[in-house]
This record gives sequence, C-alpha cells and structure tokens, in this order.
Amino acid sequence: MKAAPFEYARPETVGEAVDVLTEHGEEAKLLAGGQSLVPLLALRFAQPRLLVDLNGVDELSGIRALDDGGVAIGAMTRTRALETDPLVRDRLPLAHEAAPLIAHRAIRNRGTVGGSLAHADAAAEMPAVLVALRGTVTARGPAGVRKLAAGDLFRGHYTTALEPDEVLTEVRLPPLGPNTGTAFVEHVRRHGDFAIVGAGVTLTLEQGRCTDATIAVIGVADRPFAADAAVAVLVGQDFGEGAAHAAGVGAAAALTPTSDVHASAAYRKHLTEVLVRRALLLAARRAVG
Ligand code: FAD
Repeated sequence: MKAAPFEYARPETVGEAVDVLTEHGEEAKLLAGGQSLVPLLALRFAQPRLLVDLNGVDELSGIRALDDGGVAIGAMTRTRALETDPLVRDRLPLAHEAAPLIAHRAIRNRGTVGGSLAHADAAAEMPAVLVALRGTVTARGPAGVRKLAAGDLFRGHYTTALEPDEVLTEVRLPPLGPNTGTAFVEHVRRHGDFAIVGAGVTLTLEQGRCTDATIAVIGVADRPFAADAAVAVLVGQDFGEGAAHAAGVGAAAALTPTSDVHASAAYRKHLTEVLVRRALLLAARRAVG
C-alpha cells in the first residue's frame, strides 16, 4: 500500500515549523527521521493532510556540553550520534550503551532522538534513558517554550504530553554524581528487534552503601516504567547480590504487564527481575571501577 496523498512543508526554523503546525492543527504531522512515521503512512495508519519535514531545521541538531556537566541534545540529532559522540560517551554512558541497541545502524543513521521520544514506544530505549537519567525535554509551541520532566512526558502507548502544535526541540540530561555507575541491558529475540524487556539503571554507592538509584524498565507497561518502589528499598542499604536481587523482585512485583505474541506477562515479569538485577550489578562494578 502507498501513503495517502499529503501536502509537504519544509521549514528552516523552529518558529516556521510552529507557525505551520499552528495553522494546520491536527491535520499536520512532523516528520523527523521517518523511521516510525513512514511505515505508518505506508500502511495508512496515519493519514496527515500535511507533513512538516524538520530535516531542514539546522538549529535542532547537535550535542553540546552544559556548564553544570550535563549534556543538551537537539531533537533532530540522529540516534547513531549517541554511539560516536565523545561527549555522550564520557558524560552519558547510559545513552552511549543504549544507542546501539536501537534497531539497526541504517535506522539509527536516520532516526532521531526527538522522534524516538515523541513516538513514545513503550519498548524504546531512549525514553528509558530519559527517565533513568532524570532528564527533561523542551517543547516549543505557539504559547512559547516549556520544559517537561521525563515523568511528565510519557502518557501511555505512543502518547505524550506534547500538543499537536508543539515541536520537541531539545533533551537535557543532567550530570551523573560521583561514584555513580550506569547500565542498560535488554533481552531481544534477534539483534535490532525491539526489546521484549530492557532495563536502564543508575546507581550511586558510597563505601558500599547505595545513596541514590534509578531504574527504568521497557516493554512491560504503556510507557517506560520507573521502578520507584524498588529504588526506595534499595537506597540506604549496603549494596550487594542480595540487594540487587531484591530490587529486581521488587520491580517485577510492581508490574502488571500484558501478554502478547512475543512474550507472556509472566515471562516479562521474570525478565524484569533478572535484567534489573543484572543491570544493577553491572552499574555497581562501574560505580566503583
Ligand atoms: P519519525 O518516524 O519521523 O516520527 C515519529 C513520531 O514522532 C511522529 O509522530 C512525528 O510526528 C513525531 N516527532 C518526530 N520528531 C518530533 C519532534 N521534534 N517534536 C514533536 N514530534 C516529533 N526504536 C527503538 O527505540 N528501539 C528499537 O529497537 C527499534 N527498532 C526498530 C526497528 C525497525 C525495523 C524500525 C523501522 C524502527 C525501529 N525503531 C526502534 C524506531 C526508530 O528508533 C525510530 O527512528 C524512532 O522511533 C522514531 O524516530 P524518527 O526520527 O524516525 O521519527
């Protein structure tokens, strides 16, 4: 099947893009890397009257260091750049580790960081990285600019708090504290598939005691699942095999995943338990190493 006919606009600034979106409302759709949207168009699951192509908006691309030690990533930055950029490697090891797990290189060469977040697939890696690193996104619309914390962005399957006339412009990820390790692990049937379950974690240790942690699990809920209850138990404890195991069990217990053709709910819970434990143990080695 081919896409339904559509008009095409190619703005050169964010302001122009917002103007076009404001004029056309829900009949317009932003096009970033096209790796999720174009298949939806081809299947006619999406039939926008107007495609607003962001590929000519240069101000949306790039990775830059922030003075506080964090990193800002423009929405049109390709996910492949997260694998190759030295700043991401040094300051955002979680994003650096998660990036090659996204699809295949050809897809990462086109797919964008902003597109992945706006698409909000519950099995996608970038949303979990945003949650685990307590990042924020910036959105610009006709009313101006607003910032959204990771926990406020994702509303459900393929649903975010972004308005139809808003452009996600930038992602900001704060610096990791001292003695902090991170890890992203996942289970896939074949390399490049969406994960059946994955876990992205951060872990801060002081003299063997956990002083801070985050756990984000993908493929188990309608959005990246922040296992806050498991984290609350972990923080303040001496960290070791037992604490990692308990956190895995706690994260799985808080979930009610659904069964589908890829995996049963019970299997997803089991994977959560195993992957959270593994990710925490790996992060602990990195925190002290
Ligand atoms: P597009 O497809 O262009 O857009 C996606 C949606 O986001 C559209 O609704 C669009 O309007 C909206 N949008 C895009 N940019 C913005 C913006 N700046 N502001 C507001 N809205 C915006 N992803 C994974 O995470 N993990 C995987 O394992 C994985 N496997 C894949 C395997 C295959 C075979 C394919 C085809 C894709 C896979 N993907 C995977 C998806 C891929 O990462 C997509 O690139 C990504 O989800 C969407 O990014 P995009 O830039 O291509 O966005």
